[in-house]
Amino acid sequence: MLLLAVATTAVVVLAGLVGDPRPATTAARLTAPEGATPSPNERALTLSRDLPEPRDGAEPRDRAEPRDRAEPGERARRSERRPARRQIPTGGPGIFDRAAVSARSAEDTYGATTYTVEIERTLPFDADEVADVVGETLSDPRSWTGISDVELAQVADDADLRILVATPDTTDELCAPLETRGRVSCRNGDLVVLNALRWAHGIPDYRGDLAGYRTYLINHEVGHALGYSHVECPGAGEPAPVMMQQTYGLGECTRNSWPADD
Ligand SMILES: [Zn+2]
Repeated sequence: MLLLAVATTAVVVLAGLVGDPRPATTAARLTAPEGATPSPNERALTLSRDLPEPRDGAEPRDRAEPRDRAEPGERARRSERRPARRQIPTGGPGIFDRAAVSARSAEDTYGATTYTVEIERTLPFDADEVADVVGETLSDPRSWTGISDVELAQVADDADLRILVATPDTTDELCAPLETRGRVSCRNGDLVVLNALRWAHGIPDYRGDLAGYRTYLINHEVGHALGYSHVECPGAGEPAPVMMQQTYGLGECTRNSWPADD
């Protein structure tokens, strides 16, 4: 019950937290937030974290999952059907490997919100497989693109958003000063930080539907980047809005991964 006591919504505004050097290499070193001291060219950033759910002890035991050589779409679907029940290291090097993407011209992405998909090195996830899941989610008409004019496009570099899967310790660093406590995810400026624990194990309220939880997680955190804030469960038996903090628990709502189904 102690964890329930932290069930508060933390949405704070501060500046200067995004230290994104965007080097030309495929590995990007992320520095810790520089603190809240404003800089002359600061821009206000709305930060949002997502709260821990109290029953991580219910996570399934870890086991290895073999790689396969299926086509990307099928590979992602298989990956979702066979959840990656793996040991997630507590911390990592803070170095991220970017998913590959075919070359896009500026014309291809004109008007789109662009993103990279990056995995912290040492995590047992393939960046391209994660990018398949992210891409299928964000291009789905049930996602944000189905309820607004927004279009999201993966690029190799120089993106509007960096969608990261990070170890718990690195998540905490990148989300600070918000307290993700090694358990949950956040959006911090142009960083969408998905906690590898949640990516690997989901939450008990999704009852083994890891693919559904991952879809929720992507839509929720990218929703913050698009300007959406938290909402509450609208009533018993209603689908949980995607901007509800479902990671904490569904309450009287039923699980729902898609904003267009809210
Ligand atoms: Zn949130």
